[in-house]
Amino acid sequence: MKQTSKATSSTSIRKSAPAKKTTSQKTAAAKKAASTSATNEKGASLLEKFFVDSLKDIYYAEKKLTTAIPKMEEAATTEELKEAFNDHLHQTQKHVKRLEKVFGLIGKKAEGKKCEAIEGIVKEAESIIEETKEGSMTRDAALIIAAQKVEHYEIATYGGLVQLALTMDLDQVADILDTTLMEEEDTDHHLTEIAEAHINMDAEHEGANYSWSTEEDEDDEEEDDSEESEDE
Ligand code: FE
Ligand code: FE
Repeated sequence: MKQTSKATSSTSIRKSAPAKKTTSQKTAAAKKAASTSATNEKGASLLEKFFVDSLKDIYYAEKKLTTAIPKMEEAATTEELKEAFNDHLHQTQKHVKRLEKVFGLIGKKAEGKKCEAIEGIVKEAESIIEETKEGSMTRDAALIIAAQKVEHYEIATYGGLVQLALTMDLDQVADILDTTLMEEEDTDHHLTEIAEAHINMDAEHEGANYSWSTEEDEDDEEEDDSEESEDE
C-alpha cells in the first residue's frame, strides 16, 4: 500500500500529517465529507469500517506486545537492551491507553481483533530466544532485529491510520495516533543506535562458542563440556 512505504520514510509524513492541512486538502476533505454524508446517515462508510477494523488490529497488537516485551527484556544480554525494552514497554502501555481514547472519540467500544501479523512476528522473537545462547551478544543482535520488525509493523499501521484520520477530518484522532507513531519511530532509531554502537560488533567477535545454536554445532562440540558456560 502506498502509505506503507511513505510511513517507513516517516519524517515527512509526521511533519505534514497532523493538524496542518493545506487549503486544497481541506477543500478535498470537505467535498469528500459531503459526498459521504449520505452513507453516514445510514451507517459507516467502507473506509470508516476499514479504519475501525485497523484500530482493532493494532489494539490487539499493542496488548499482545505488553506481554511479549517483558519476555524479550528478560532474555536480553546487555543492560542497555533490557533498558530499551523496558522503556518501550511503558510506552506500549500508553499506546494501549491512547487507542482506547481514540475508540472513545469515534464512539466505538475498544476491542481487539486477532492480528496474525503480530502473532507471527512475536513467534519469531520467541524462536530467536530459543535458538540463541543465553548471555550471548548474538542473542541481543538478533533480538534487536526482531524488535525492529515489530516497530516497522507499527510504523506502517500508524502511518496509514494517521493519513486516513486526516482524510476523514478526524484531526484529534490523527494527533493522538501521530504521537504514538513518533514514539515507534524513535524506538526504531534507538534500537539501530544500540546495535551499531557495539552489540553487532561484539556479536561478531564472540566466537564459535556463542554462535547461532544449530544441531551441527551441538554435534561438533560434544567433547568440550568444560567450555559450556550457559548454565551459570
Ligand atoms: Fe506501540
Ligand atoms: Fe512499538
